[in-house]
Amino acid sequence: MDLCRTHAETLDAEDPLAAFRARFAGAGEDGLLYLDGNSLGRMPRETPAALARVVEDEWARGLVGSWASWIGAATRLGDRLAAGVLGAGPGEVLVGDSTSVNLYKLLVAGVDARPGRDVLVCCADDFPTDRYIVAGVAAARGMTVREVPADIDEGLDADVLAAALDERVAVVVLSAVAYRSGALADIAALTRAARDVGALVLWDLSHAAGAVPVDLAAAGADLAVGCTYKYLGGGPGAPAFLYVRRELQERLRQPIWGWFGQRDQFAMGPEYDPVPGVERFGVGTPPVLAMAAVEVGAGLVAEAGIGRLAAKGRALGQLTVALADAWLAPHGVALASPRDPARRGSHVTLAHPQAWQLTQALVDRGVVPDFRTPDRVRLGPAPLYTRFVDVWDAMDRFRAVLAEGAHERYPTERARVT
Ligand SMILES: *Cc1c(COP(=O)(O)O)cnc(C)c1O
Repeated sequence: MDLCRTHAETLDAEDPLAAFRARFAGAGEDGLLYLDGNSLGRMPRETPAALARVVEDEWARGLVGSWASWIGAATRLGDRLAAGVLGAGPGEVLVGDSTSVNLYKLLVAGVDARPGRDVLVCCADDFPTDRYIVAGVAAARGMTVREVPADIDEGLDADVLAAALDERVAVVVLSAVAYRSGALADIAALTRAARDVGALVLWDLSHAAGAVPVDLAAAGADLAVGCTYKYLGGGPGAPAFLYVRRELQERLRQPIWGWFGQRDQFAMGPEYDPVPGVERFGVGTPPVLAMAAVEVGAGLVAEAGIGRLAAKGRALGQLTVALADAWLAPHGVALASPRDPARRGSHVTLAHPQAWQLTQALVDRGVVPDFRTPDRVRLGPAPLYTRFVDVWDAMDRFRAVLAEGAHERYPTERARVT
């Protein structure tokens, strides 16, 4: 690959998504080379006005009467995510609660749909909340957890997972894109493998939604959850989504019996009697303000198109890897993601023994990656607003830090948030 900055400029000139950058606050103005769009996406410029509309028109003026429209927001937004981002059908996606809570609800629902089975399977290197929730459900239900080992750089091996599957397994929890390395899992193939033993797979799409095509319907996926504040740009703490394949919905019951899942909700009936559709996986009053921000962020992703986003994400990753090989490897930095771009999501991770000090030095020089244990610098150049020259400039500063040893002056003690 041509490693000149002019090549990066050419890639930007040819980028069909280049115009989206101007639609995000700060991009091109704050001077930041922001490579943490996989952790907290940049704010779309339209978001404050969208929030102001809800606050001033719907809340301040419309008051309680606005519930006539708010009541349908979780499914309306779910349908948009389904069509524009997740490859699912209408009535299969609901927005609300956090990813952790949605994971809990669908996991318990899946366990109850597989009576007599006493094993849960998860990946030993999955995001902590996923593993903790699996462990918590197993403890409450007297089940056993099989934590399948995975290479922290290469991701889960399909054969290793297959060896952990048998007729005792109720539900398998997996991430489509590994949070640390960006390793991509084959949703269709792993769902089939689990189905062959009668188990359900609950997919966590947190690092995949808005970055790679997930095509839940085509993949035959049964259950999924994911964040909206990463690539989907919904803002800090934005409500998550959940997906349940339509044919399964009526057979599943989630454990938190709230009134937002209730049939004829305002009849205030004596007993819990959930609606047949995806709203049965809702619990309580949804965060209306926060959903307005998700609508804007997810709308931009849908407008750009997952195919184009994934292609650009892959190209940004390839440039990152090529520059890391040429400039950083001589300083002891190693690729900690799959080398084959077809096996990665949109982020790339690099390993170095002083990764935390490097992360701090980079942040002070206007490059924003994040640190992940044990010794990783994670780079998430979100394709909606990151240019190829941003990657080039970030890697240029990275090599300067290493060459000068500037990171040596930073504390080794970690901050509360890394
Ligand atoms: C970011 C992320 C989460 C976050 O869950 P919250 O409930 O929103 O805190 C969960 N799982 C994975 C795989 C993630 O990447």
